[in-house]
Amino acid sequence: MSFNIVGEVLTFLGAAIFIGSTIFTIIKIPEKPQFPHGIIISFIFIIIGSIIRSIGAAICIISKEGEAAAGLLLDPNKEREDKKEQNKSFGGQISDMIEEIPVVKNLTVIKIKCRECGHLNDEHDKFCSNCGKVL
Ligand SMILES: [Zn+2]
Repeated sequence: MSFNIVGEVLTFLGAAIFIGSTIFTIIKIPEKPQFPHGIIISFIFIIIGSIIRSIGAAICIISKEGEAAAGLLLDPNKEREDKKEQNKSFGGQISDMIEEIPVVKNLTVIKIKCRECGHLNDEHDKFCSNCGKVL
């Protein structure tokens, strides 16, 4: 969690340096054409600002999603583990959406209970899918 805050601070700081030096370059540099090195220094600050912002954004992604989900570590099993909570959320949202479809809302599923083993079979099945007895 504190790792995420470091990322957020760096993102903000980088963006502030980037915006500040960009505004400074646009407003102040044309006023002093006798100092051509001023524009180079301004551009260095713009680049430093964007690098810090990018590092901050990367730290945020890694701390939020985990190193495998962020693509830093190539491990499919860990990637799946990292995304578990996120995928649960997506699955829940899809489930909510499906439940809102009128056809699905009024859908009744009829199951036939096997007299031998008690397994629930689909409405049109002729044989039990568990024990094979005639339904
Ligand atoms: Zn059965």
